[in-house]
Amino acid sequence: EISVRDARKQYGDFVALDDVSLDIPSGSLTALLGPSGSGKSTLLRSIAGLEELDGGAVVIAGDDVTSVSPQKRDIGFVFQHYAAFKHLTVRKNVAFGLEIRKRPKAEIDDRVDQLLEIVGLTGFQTRFPAQLSGGQRQRMALARALAVDPRVLLLDEPFGALDAKVRADLRTWLRRLHDDVHVTTVLVTHDQQEALDVADRIAVMNAGRIEQVGTPRDLYDRPANDFVMSFLGDVS
Ligand code: ATP
Ligand code: MG
Repeated sequence: EISVRDARKQYGDFVALDDVSLDIPSGSLTALLGPSGSGKSTLLRSIAGLEELDGGAVVIAGDDVTSVSPQKRDIGFVFQHYAAFKHLTVRKNVAFGLEIRKRPKAEIDDRVDQLLEIVGLTGFQTRFPAQLSGGQRQRMALARALAVDPRVLLLDEPFGALDAKVRADLRTWLRRLHDDVHVTTVLVTHDQQEALDVADRIAVMNAGRIEQVGTPRDLYDRPANDFVMSFLGDVS
């Protein structure tokens, strides 16, 4: 479980996170959904430790990690524009985190085979990132983030730069991956349909606050206020 408690973040006078509290159950796929500028990335980066809070705490599996460095938080992260190692093959990119941890070769080989199969890239192992489509590259990024068995997987608009058809395919991939691996996942998106399709739980953000948290069904049937109602209703 991830527990964010009264998280506060200001940039000068501007309040980006206004005492946000959120519990993310272990094994869930939770979406942070909200309009541009609502604080989704700031909250995700705070969970990752890439942003220092001005107040409050982040607790992961009972450990208060508020002042722990990102490297020690045991987290996998995938951004919208994934920075792969261009000079390494798909296989080497996925294996990278295991190699720097000096895991035995046989273990690395098994793990990488398994992950490439899950993300559907078995036939692409010897290609380089430049030889993949955008969707394949994001699948490689997911495999790479999962290789080291993180406690938490954080995804910031990982499909944002791709066209609608590929995005829809990747949602299916993500859902299947999550059902296989069950790692606690937080997905940032401003796309209502994406959140409704893949998430078990949705936290709706607006202006640095969380307006409502619930299952897609809860939010649809019982929106807490006009903002949630109109934002969720705005499905294109
Ligand atoms: P988007 O959907 O556009 O990615 P978001 O919900 O992820 O938006 P954030 O990136 O969390 O939004 O930003 C929240 C607010 O904080 C925005 O108004 C943004 O301008 C502001 N902000 C973020 N980073 C900084 C910074 N380094 N300095 C000043 N303001 C910032
Ligand atoms: Mg963002």
